[in-house]
Amino acid sequence: MKIMYDIIIIGSGPAGLFAAYNLVKNNIRSILIIDRNPYPSGGMLNDCKLNLTHEIGMDLEDLFLTVEDAKKQIKIIDDVFLEFGALKEIYGENQELYRDWTERAQRNEVKLVPALQRHIGTDMSKDVIKKFREYLEERGVSFKLSTNIEDIEKNDRGFTLLNKENGNFKCKYLVIAPGRSGSKWLRDVSKKIGIKYSNGKRIDVGIRIELRRESYPITDVLYDPKFKINTKYGNELRTFCTNPGGRITLEQYDDFKLVNGDALKNKKTENTNFAILNTVNLTEPLTDPFIYGRLIASSTNILGGGLPIVQRMGDFLDEKRSKADTFFEKSRWYDRVQPTLVIGSTVTPGDIRMSYPYKIVKSLKEGMIKLNKIFGNTILKEENLIYAPEIKFYSLLYETDRFMETSVKNLFVAGDGAGKSRGIVGAGISGIIASKGILSK
Ligand SMILES: Cc1cc2nc3c(=O)[nH]c(=O)nc-3n(C[C@H](O)[C@H](O)[C@H](O)COP(=O)(O)OP(=O)(O)OC[C@H]3O[C@@H](n4cnc5c(N)ncnc54)[C@H](O)[C@@H]3O)c2cc1C
Repeated sequence: MKIMYDIIIIGSGPAGLFAAYNLVKNNIRSILIIDRNPYPSGGMLNDCKLNLTHEIGMDLEDLFLTVEDAKKQIKIIDDVFLEFGALKEIYGENQELYRDWTERAQRNEVKLVPALQRHIGTDMSKDVIKKFREYLEERGVSFKLSTNIEDIEKNDRGFTLLNKENGNFKCKYLVIAPGRSGSKWLRDVSKKIGIKYSNGKRIDVGIRIELRRESYPITDVLYDPKFKINTKYGNELRTFCTNPGGRITLEQYDDFKLVNGDALKNKKTENTNFAILNTVNLTEPLTDPFIYGRLIASSTNILGGGLPIVQRMGDFLDEKRSKADTFFEKSRWYDRVQPTLVIGSTVTPGDIRMSYPYKIVKSLKEGMIKLNKIFGNTILKEENLIYAPEIKFYSLLYETDRFMETSVKNLFVAGDGAGKSRGIVGAGISGIIASKGILSK
């Protein structure tokens, strides 16, 4: 394998793949994509629902885009997924049903963000990504997988990427798109080679609710409804990552586990899950969201004996902890929602009020009460399940020009790890923008 390329892209998530896509469309061939995983995809294997609106998963200011530009870019991303086998079925098109839900939300002082959505699914996305990879390889893009880039050096001719086992790689232009899992590494590299960034002060702390599919009927119209709720104490809440017929999943971090969720396209459970997130804006003296998030995540895991916590809604409302021996109690209808995680070995019955700050619990409860009104009392059913910790860390904010070029010449960043997006579509757009920066040179 060559070691010198015109362009190297670190990260084969949507940001990296779409950067390569736009480069080959413009007849650039000397491209290497490196990923530490044995297959390309990044986070696209997680459910892979496409939010086809600029109001979700991206900030136009960070991407230097107008609404019109964003719409064009979103269409390009969606068309590529369709070209590689995503199904045509789309959610959010039925305006009449949509209006009905919007009105119900408004009556309860909740905003329903309008969005078209396409669901690919964890199972189907493998094929889509395989075709994406073949398309790029047929046009000359090389992949170097199972290769963790440990360090980066810069010199007058470009960049050298270091990997102990597989040797070094060199390039003139570098795109770093390492996703959230690589954001700490990117920060370390940035300190060393002088990429400028600033700390964010925001973090989303919330819970994931699991309930029977029929208790959340809006998903027939909108796959992943985004409700925005302002509480009377001034907290901002939003629903996030809904998985109709889906399952709860765990994400392993260095020293704790977080809950998340996904769904398969072809095999459904009887449940739906979605997150309710509370945005916390930190002020002096603690402004580091990583420290705050870790604190909550670790204490929740410690209380769960090294695992996340699950609580029946009935226990939560009664202000009691959930226990293994009463977790399926028939007299309280607790047998009516079967958790999609195994109680005891993957998640522990407990009490989220023990590890979550009072202010956050109070605002989450207010959010649930508002949603409960919209859905005619199905959200607060005793048998529903609440999982924690569900936390979204925002990445550092990297200073770039409008083409994602950092303070280091010829070094571009893209995607979630660089704070340029918070979802597949936004990450893909930021990758395309970075590729345009390279093309402009
Ligand atoms: C459970 C779950 C469900 C989700 N569901 C959705 C959804 O339905 N819709 C949606 O829009 N978003 C969803 N997301 C978020 C989505 O996955 C991300 O927003 C998106 O993947 C970000 O793309 P990215 O290219 O920036 O980074 P990623 O997709 O994370 O890709 C980064 C890649 O870089 C590689 N990497 C990092 N550091 C290095 C290094 N040093 N050397 C080599 N390789 C490195 C990683 O291995 C990874 O493959 C979900 C996330 C999770 C965790």
